[in-house]
Amino acid sequence: ADPEARRRALLQERRAVYGPNTSLSYKQPLHIVRGAGARLFDSGGAAYLDCVNNVTHVGHANEAVNAAICGQLALVNTNSRYLSEGLVELSKQLLATLPPNLEVVYLCNSGSEANDLALRMARAAAAARAGRAGAAPAAPHVACMASAYHGHLTSTMAISPYKFWGAHGAGKEPWVHVLPLPDTYRGHHLDGAASARGALAEARAAGGEVVAFIAESVLSCGGQTFFPEGYLPAVYAEMRAAGAVCIADEVQCGFGRMGDAFWGFQLAGVAPDAVVFGKPMGNGFPLSAVAVTRELANTFGAQEYFNTFGGCNAAAAAGLAVLSEIRRLDLQASAARVGARLLARLRALASEHPIIGDVRGRGLFVGIEVVRCPASKAPAPAAAEWIKEFALSRRVLLSTDGPFDNVLKIKPPMVFSEADADELVGVLSEALRALTGSEAARAAVEEAEAARYEARVAPTAARYEENAARIYAAAAAEAAAAAAARKLALL
Ligand code: PMP
Repeated sequence: ADPEARRRALLQERRAVYGPNTSLSYKQPLHIVRGAGARLFDSGGAAYLDCVNNVTHVGHANEAVNAAICGQLALVNTNSRYLSEGLVELSKQLLATLPPNLEVVYLCNSGSEANDLALRMARAAAAARAGRAGAAPAAPHVACMASAYHGHLTSTMAISPYKFWGAHGAGKEPWVHVLPLPDTYRGHHLDGAASARGALAEARAAGGEVVAFIAESVLSCGGQTFFPEGYLPAVYAEMRAAGAVCIADEVQCGFGRMGDAFWGFQLAGVAPDAVVFGKPMGNGFPLSAVAVTRELANTFGAQEYFNTFGGCNAAAAAGLAVLSEIRRLDLQASAARVGARLLARLRALASEHPIIGDVRGRGLFVGIEVVRCPASKAPAPAAAEWIKEFALSRRVLLSTDGPFDNVLKIKPPMVFSEADADELVGVLSEALRALTGSEAARAAVEEAEAARYEARVAPTAARYEENAARIYAAAAAEAAAAAAARKLALL
């Protein structure tokens, strides 16, 4: 059969039977039938360099992981109500990578589920604390970062500004408080303590208590944005002083991807009370986890927690095989080495092309911020998309992200090699030359940019700035009230 005809037919069939609000990558979606390492193959046999998939951490169709899963399925796959070596061993191995205050693991099936569980534990801890003090628990509020995404459940959508302030979003719940996105490239909102105090003050003014602060260790949906030095420690200090549990979402950046550390929070200089793991943990087999302090597990522990698939034998086998492959292939060191080369070459490219406003990253977690002009630093989502589509024509897969969708995101399987990095840089260089060298391409992109600005950039920027103003105003109002109270006490 003709692969192109089949691809078109599949698209029609999918549209007929599958959820209409699920998205497909690219204007002409790909029909991928096979993977190997950092490559994907379509039904016509074409090979693509995958710079996007951070789930297949140890490589597409990794043989050791597949053998471990299949071997376990051939024996038994049942739930965590039976004893199994795998569940205990995976928990131990995970804890061995974490600071000693994290002592207890729960296994789940997705990042959303694990974040939801972490939130439940934070709420339980606050209720227990109020109970011990003989008080009724205050309304449990949660603080998160602007542009964060923490999952598709009702609970996690509510703490995901990426969604609730995105197109067709439901808006912010009154129990959620959003810290402004620190933007090191533009120099905005870099004071973590001030932002945290604002979120806490906004909660108190609404009669609530922030029971949890959740953040990715690097803001992936925020456009591969790294916290400025000292930012997260300052937020944690403020949050803890107010009694909140600090949750690190490592779903995208964990498991050695950052090169210099196994976990992103280690680079951010903090020690969380709960850490959430997802995507890469099973290399594509549904597997996620939360690691928490003994205290959090104990206050949560009165009611049974049961999760049908969480911690099943096959999932544990997948998780153990992934950890083993990370060690065997020395993937953390490889991410550091390949990432350093990639970043250096991308920065050289940026120096030749003013529309590359910023190149940031660590290990194999890299963002390229595309702008309309280096002076205004105005986001250029249409140019970013143009580059992504050009790269597809050269069989290199990229994605775009960030609040304005103008950041090219690079987070490939960790088996990505130096040759792969060079191939990617070569294609990006070709794309940039093609775009800047063609009057017609530039004009088309500039026209699309204007439409994007109206539809997304301006409304998002307005929403984020309005939130930031509100957060800082709440902090200022609380500080003024405290100063007035001190003055009164002195009279
Ligand atoms: N947290 C982060 C940072 C994520 O990127 C995602 C998924 N994109 C999730 C949580 C949710 O994970 P899942 O899709 O497995 O539920």
